[in-house]
Amino acid sequence: MASHSPRVLSGLALNELIDELKGLPAPLPPFRSKQIFKWIARGAVSFEEMTDLDKALREDLGSRFLLRSTRVSSQLEDGDGTVKLQIDLFDGARIEAVLLSDAEERKTACISTQAGCPAGCVFCKTGSLGFSRNLDSAEIAEQFLHLKALAARNSPGAASGETGIANIVIMGMGEPLLNLAELRRALSFFFDAEGLGISRRRITLSTSGVIPGIRDLADNGPHIRLACSLTSAREELRNRLMPLAASNPLPQLKAALGYYQQKSGQRITLEAVLLGGINTGREDAAAMAGFAKGLDAVINLIPWNPVEGLQFEGAPLREPSRAELEGFAALLEKSGLKVTRRYRKGRGVAGACGQLGVVGKKDS
Ligand code: SAH
Ligand code: SF4
Repeated sequence: MASHSPRVLSGLALNELIDELKGLPAPLPPFRSKQIFKWIARGAVSFEEMTDLDKALREDLGSRFLLRSTRVSSQLEDGDGTVKLQIDLFDGARIEAVLLSDAEERKTACISTQAGCPAGCVFCKTGSLGFSRNLDSAEIAEQFLHLKALAARNSPGAASGETGIANIVIMGMGEPLLNLAELRRALSFFFDAEGLGISRRRITLSTSGVIPGIRDLADNGPHIRLACSLTSAREELRNRLMPLAASNPLPQLKAALGYYQQKSGQRITLEAVLLGGINTGREDAAAMAGFAKGLDAVINLIPWNPVEGLQFEGAPLREPSRAELEGFAALLEKSGLKVTRRYRKGRGVAGACGQLGVVGKKDS
């Protein structure tokens, strides 16, 4: 993985920060490191802001460390309240993070774990970009810090110290379970009660179904909420739509999800991107119901968000019609499944599911 010089402090868990600052020529006592940790979690972008440290220490730290490694290069706002940030990484790679608001003005941060994605799903813009690299924990954590600052600017009435963000979804660019080590470090940063203190229950990870990652998360935690992008429960079709699925066969995937459920005691979400004319038929619904049987699962239907140029085996992809969407939902409901539909937010700035990596247009 690419590394920085000087060292970046954002995204370190408190114990890692304490260790780092103990290694200085004049080692910092843990309570000082804790003060610095709190500042980072509060969103400080310079040591100057850390007014409870004396000036000489602030200057010394400033000469040795960076607080941030990423920079917001543009902010695109959709009329529906969605804001997409394009974020430049130190090596020139660019990622995206999205702030979503629901009808009750509850905010959700959608963050990325990789620049590009190696999974290559045919319906996804990020997949069509190919894979650049994994993000490190600072690059993951800073997306949240950028979005938090944005949320605070947009609702200045929020009590100080509050994040203003109710939930985090790890559903941006990339396959999170292929970057679990760095993601875990960023999660420790989010959880720490000395800093952001975000609860596990407010964080949802979406995976395209990486079995070893699901099992690792089940065994070693953290037990955040899990969503699995199924999209098709017909093995052969799934493998054609989602090339990485070939190494994660459905029976073993189902077993891994059941294992996560058993270990975490949580309900799981199965996501299905609906592609007009491809995966919305009767047999598709029957296969999906068969897969969900025995799991405590909710099915989340996501009508495909258009991405120009994407094709499936020579034919352009299209959105499902209303009849396809509702017909599919009805078949699943008839087999006793709980079905939700994902609202389409952020399409005006290409900030909706599967559109990240598209250069969005500024709303005028
Ligand atoms: N890589 C992870 C998380 C990021 S993708 C995963 O695949 O689960 C987040 C969600 O967006 C996934 O459920 C994915 O299937 C869906 N998605 C991808 N492209 C889409 C598109 N063009 N329209 C709608 N949903 C899409
Ligand atoms: Fe990667 Fe998810 Fe897109 Fe598939 S849908 S290419 S796993 S980001």
